[in-house]
Amino acid sequence: MHDIKMVDLKGQYLKIKEEVDAAIAGVIENTSFINGPDVKAFQSELEKYLGVKHVIPCANGTDALQIALMALNLQPGDEVITSDFTFIATVEVIKLLRLKPVLVDVYPDTFNIDIEKLEKAITEKTKAIIPVHLFGQCTNMTAILSLAKKHNLFVIEDTAQAIGSQYFFPDGRSEFAGNMGNIACTSFFPSKNLGCFGDGGAMYTNDDDLAARLRLIVNHGMKTRYYYDDIGVNSRLDSIQAALLRVKLKYLDQYNKARQKAASFYDTILGVHPKIQIPSRSSFSTHTFHQYTIVANGFNRDELRLYLEKQGIPAMIYYPVPLHIQKAYADCGFNAALYPVTDNLCKNVLSLPMHTELSEEQLLYITNHILKFLQF
Ligand SMILES: *Cc1c(COP(=O)(O)O)cnc(C)c1O
Repeated sequence: MHDIKMVDLKGQYLKIKEEVDAAIAGVIENTSFINGPDVKAFQSELEKYLGVKHVIPCANGTDALQIALMALNLQPGDEVITSDFTFIATVEVIKLLRLKPVLVDVYPDTFNIDIEKLEKAITEKTKAIIPVHLFGQCTNMTAILSLAKKHNLFVIEDTAQAIGSQYFFPDGRSEFAGNMGNIACTSFFPSKNLGCFGDGGAMYTNDDDLAARLRLIVNHGMKTRYYYDDIGVNSRLDSIQAALLRVKLKYLDQYNKARQKAASFYDTILGVHPKIQIPSRSSFSTHTFHQYTIVANGFNRDELRLYLEKQGIPAMIYYPVPLHIQKAYADCGFNAALYPVTDNLCKNVLSLPMHTELSEEQLLYITNHILKFLQF
């Protein structure tokens, strides 16, 4: 009846099926599957949309983060600060490159990195900060950029969940998420706000030298054909994915508005309940709701989740386990006492269905059941 999904990729596809099918068929027809004309066209269309000088497409968001760090020429043991409450990829690449991840707690309302705690975590060995614009809302970039300047640090924005979000500086200037740090990394994973039909990712930068480094690294460190100036990787966005992304980029603003509309609906009904913390809105950022995440305040989140599941309503926990206690990072020396907020969030957050195709009827069904559960 209601057929509620966490993410409705099929419903979204059906609305633009003809355009998408034609775009994909076009690539099959011209057979330039790797670095074809659609990749270059998507690159420049995204540059134009974001107002950024260089977009460098790559294979996925995790690669984007890894390549961005590789481009900075950091040395083993150099410290890179990021959030304790994020997807594993953000911290994984730091460790993979034999750098030292330093995790910092987040704010209880926005779930983004706590600026005061971040400043305390900076040492002489700190070389970079990776702010994550979690769930679609920008981190306080004014503060991050000022700390970066003061301590001479690189800033790599993880904007995998916030493509199209806008940041407002105190002087009234505004920028898209990803257009403020030295490099930004995004993902086109299918469920992301701009998702393709497989894996995909990109980096952005306004720095010509860094752009050149990134382009070198994504392509085996090769400058002139078969001459390798550096150690690189092979990380490319398929032409088929680029052709599809060109179609979907045209709808990105519309898609983000649809998410915001669903979020407002949730807010209106859930926001008045004393036991539910609805997503807060920063004064300095729009929210594009990659996730709509509530925090349980005085009830059992897991019981709500099970109850909803029985009513045919999916809900997910992003993220159930803080990064500082993950087994693979046990040798990083994290001090477990430093993350009270993340610890609490991991126990109490619940992300509700959020996508571009949610109807009012579905939203009403979901919210009614949440209120019903809370009456028990
Ligand atoms: C999705 C995501 C990534 C990784 O992107 P992939 O394309 O899945 O590799 C990195 N950081 C965050 C915050 C993400 O949500």
